[in-house]
Amino acid sequence: MEHLFQDIQYLKGIGPKRSQQFKRLGVENIFDLLWHVPRAYFNRGNPDKIRSLIHGEFAAVRGVVKGTHASRSRRGMNIFKAILQDDSGAVTAVWFNQPFLAGIISSGQEIFVSGKVKGSPGALELNVSEYEVLDETSQHIDVLPIYILTEGLSQKALRAIMMNILPEYLPSYPEILSKDIKEEYDLCDIAFAFYNLHFPQDGKAYLRARKRLALEELLLFQISLRLEQAKSKPQSCVVHLEKTNLVQEMWKKLPFELTAAQARVVDEIYQDMETPCRMNRLLQGDVGSGKTIVAALAMAKAVSSGFQAAMMAPTEILAEQHYMSISRLFAHCDVVVARLTGSTPPGERRMILEALASGQIDIVVGTQALIQEELGFWRLGLAVIDEQHRFGVKQRALLGLKGDMPDLLVMTATPIPRTLALTVYGDLLVSIIDEMPPGRKAVKTKFIRNSDGEKVYDFIRTQIHDHGAQAYIVCPLVEESEKQDLIAAVTLYDELRNNIFSDIQVGLIHGRLKQAEKELIMERFKRGEVKVLVSTTVIEVGVDVPEATIMAVVHAERFGLSQLHQLRGRVGRGKKQSYCFLIGDPHTEDGYKRLKIMEKTNDGFILAQHDLIIRGAGEFWGVKQHGLNQLKVANLVKDQKLMEISQCLIKKLNLSDYDYLERYINEKFKKNQHIAGN
Ligand code: ADP
Ligand code: MG
Repeated sequence: MEHLFQDIQYLKGIGPKRSQQFKRLGVENIFDLLWHVPRAYFNRGNPDKIRSLIHGEFAAVRGVVKGTHASRSRRGMNIFKAILQDDSGAVTAVWFNQPFLAGIISSGQEIFVSGKVKGSPGALELNVSEYEVLDETSQHIDVLPIYILTEGLSQKALRAIMMNILPEYLPSYPEILSKDIKEEYDLCDIAFAFYNLHFPQDGKAYLRARKRLALEELLLFQISLRLEQAKSKPQSCVVHLEKTNLVQEMWKKLPFELTAAQARVVDEIYQDMETPCRMNRLLQGDVGSGKTIVAALAMAKAVSSGFQAAMMAPTEILAEQHYMSISRLFAHCDVVVARLTGSTPPGERRMILEALASGQIDIVVGTQALIQEELGFWRLGLAVIDEQHRFGVKQRALLGLKGDMPDLLVMTATPIPRTLALTVYGDLLVSIIDEMPPGRKAVKTKFIRNSDGEKVYDFIRTQIHDHGAQAYIVCPLVEESEKQDLIAAVTLYDELRNNIFSDIQVGLIHGRLKQAEKELIMERFKRGEVKVLVSTTVIEVGVDVPEATIMAVVHAERFGLSQLHQLRGRVGRGKKQSYCFLIGDPHTEDGYKRLKIMEKTNDGFILAQHDLIIRGAGEFWGVKQHGLNQLKVANLVKDQKLMEISQCLIKKLNLSDYDYLERYINEKFKKNQHIAGN
């Protein structure tokens, strides 16, 4: 198997120059090359007759070049035309901005083109999106792969290389499935699969190949998770057995009665904590369903059993808020709660690190600052990760590595289907809070065009004057640039404060403020001194001010569904009617759809499904989710069935048989050791 990892530079027909081109595609060895699967196919088996071409339709035509013509448009665009003829008629094929074609396509050649048909009968043109000059090597194959290329590397060259390596290297490619399993699930051999994914014999062979390779990827991903988890799996893990009556005390003094769903998940968590098997539980619950209290009760159990607990949140604002509410919950008990974030002053930080190491602190709430290397615990028994989708796998794992195998509770308001959760996270258990605290009214959501934006501000004025309401106004998300976000927020803030809301207290919050400034402004908003809070997306997750009842999002079309739902989740947390205004002019069909779906439903589970389908799983998690962006064949939205099969298979396989695969797995998922930044 080793020679699969051999540098492609030494392959026949590939030298240092070519191998540089391949590097740009992320292809370094034979293994990568085999997994460099086609992005599409070119099917020459059944071309359209030129006579039957119709304006506006997509067509594929095979014909002989009768003449060519290169020209330049007035705007300086290069245009290349070729007249193509088959036995039914002729059509003009048109290419834009590919001046080099004059050296490739010439009269007398047989070529194959596909693209969109334009014009009227008798004067039809075909705007070429793919083309192929037929020559001896490719003439006898009907379906040709279309690969992602890079400068200097042509389809033809890449196909020739593939044709060479497939027969040579596939025989030694590891086959990880037994004959029985392949029969049971109707799966083809791995070699057949690779061959037919690159050069399908026919449609049926392609489908079988795709099924096998998609499953192969899912399975490898599962195996990689298991191997990793096995490595960190302790012989035994902390067991939480209460030694004090802290938990009973907490229950007695809860500020409200738990919903049935909250009580159930607390129970599930407590059972896990009492066993010597490490808890690895995902708690899913829509925004506002009350996950924080569940986490607090779990931490109470840890502390009562003589351990420390840690809770990590993705933003400083959220960490601060958790620190406040958790301190409040434990105020009447003898429990020391501390906070640690990136803005904790050095002196204080040193003291906290010492107190954590010596056990003087029972509970610590913080940001990624909690996973810094110098930080050590005296006895960490439980690690909670809030809004886990905002963290990378590595970061989650790092908190879990602190202490002696603490139990893990990860929480999210971005729910995903069960099979997918299992596929993505491995052997974790899922708890769901499927009930909202009583008395909540559904947030009324309205999509508003920019031209009507003023009406929203008028509404906010009236609500503030007549009902003492409070509002968030969230500013455009400017792609990739925190600085631009800030400028947009400051501009809007100045405008609102000087004009529309000149007699109302308006505040501004954004990521660049110092921690103390952020705290101050949040405090003033909580106390109702600030009525309108203009903000960047720093308040996106977790922020809890029940008195706030209006959320207005400016340029709402720039936000994804999950984000909009999170933002909307900042209101509707009290008993009063809340409103959410999504202001914007979507430019795309998808953008429009998103805003309309938001109007229709408040259900985060439904929205997450839509989001997953609209964006695809890779985008949904971004590159933060390790390994997922390396799936080249499998589709986490569409391949539900295959995910189920991979779940079944993983249980049947003996993992220790797969130690030899470690290299192979590392290769497959190597380019994904991203750590999410924030
Ligand atoms: P999320 O699940 O979004 O993290 P939070 O934990 O922030 O939700 O809770 C949302 C709000 O609901 C908070 O103000 C919290 O105090 C309140 N809350 C949580 N559980 C209950 C309950 N059982 N009854 C009444 N209010 C509750
Ligand atoms: Mg929360």
